Amino acid sequence: MTDATTNLLDFDLEALSAYCERLGEKRFRAVQLFRWIHQRGARDFDQMSDLAKSLRAKLAGCATIRPLPVISEHVSADGTVKWLFDVGAGNAVESVFIPEDDRGTLCVSSQAGCAVGCRFCSTGHQGFSRNLSTGEILAQLWHAEHALRERLKTNGERVITNVVMMGMGEPLQNYGALVPALRVMLDDHGYGLSRRRVTVSTSGVVPFMERLREDLPVALAVSLHAPDDALRDPLVPLNRKYPLRELLAACKGYLERAPRDFITFEYCMLDGVNDGDEQARALLALVGPKGPAGRVPCKFNLIPFNPFPASGLKRSSNERVQAFAKILIEGGIVTTVRKTRGDDIDAACGQLAGEVQDRTRAAERMTRAPVQVIRPVRPA
Ligand code: SF4
Repeated sequence: MTDATTNLLDFDLEALSAYCERLGEKRFRAVQLFRWIHQRGARDFDQMSDLAKSLRAKLAGCATIRPLPVISEHVSADGTVKWLFDVGAGNAVESVFIPEDDRGTLCVSSQAGCAVGCRFCSTGHQGFSRNLSTGEILAQLWHAEHALRERLKTNGERVITNVVMMGMGEPLQNYGALVPALRVMLDDHGYGLSRRRVTVSTSGVVPFMERLREDLPVALAVSLHAPDDALRDPLVPLNRKYPLRELLAACKGYLERAPRDFITFEYCMLDGVNDGDEQARALLALVGPKGPAGRVPCKFNLIPFNPFPASGLKRSSNERVQAFAKILIEGGIVTTVRKTRGDDIDAACGQLAGEVQDRTRAAERMTRAPVQVIRPVRPA
């Protein structure tokens, strides 16, 4: 059964103000309503004691605050929490909360499945089902924040300090829904996160990187995974459309308005594919002064690959990852190796939402496709 009422999670504050006006209410009522929804986690209009009864009754007749049904919740021994949400028609998306000493980060999904089809990503192997709405993106944060507050008994204190749009999907291919969701995250009447603490991760959708720079420049992470087009083409198929030269120029342009003065490059370490010493040196050249866009201020985040059978790829050894990192660090680039978190609940990167239906038979196509570049990078 579909719900014909308006989902207020779909609105940023401006849209909610316009909605209140359409109901014949003063725009400032929207601020109260918005705070009840996002800061206090209210679902029931009756709870909203500072709103006039007549408005509450009006809202109850035409609007809802519609969370996503939770299919499952798993809590890891290390405190990582993974939720699987039902987004209808057999599709599910996941969100993961990663607690650390000085922050609590929520990894949020933007699409059910993904059309980019990165070779090392299990979401990419499942194909694309559909874009999430603004309300569905925000419902993940809304649920996680308020469920965690209750569980951790924080007395209303905020738990989630950082959001990374790094779950299922390519956020910049769902730009229209993404931007209002980001606005709510940043709004002082919403989640009040700073632009530095909200990160959009992209595989390199260049035109939308340029738009985000103008509309709402939050922190940016770019899934790089290869130092040249010959290797990146098969690993990140979007590279054929927006090759490295264009991508790096877009990164550099983004930095002119970004809240941080560097781009984070994500680099998934694949045994024998992209983890050789010469590839680390090629990366230094790529982002250095003689690279295609000149020097690109950046950090590298090396990600241990989470193997899954259909990929035909293997995780680089720890020694290899460390040797690779050493070359980057000695070349003057801040480099981190991502800790694997939530291994016991399959919450690690690239393991999200194993239950999405494969509507496009992407897995089948990718399994049949040959790995085009496997380089013998190890000394025998
Ligand atoms: S890595 Fe990101 S962009 Fe690539 S297939 Fe996976 S979800 Fe899509």
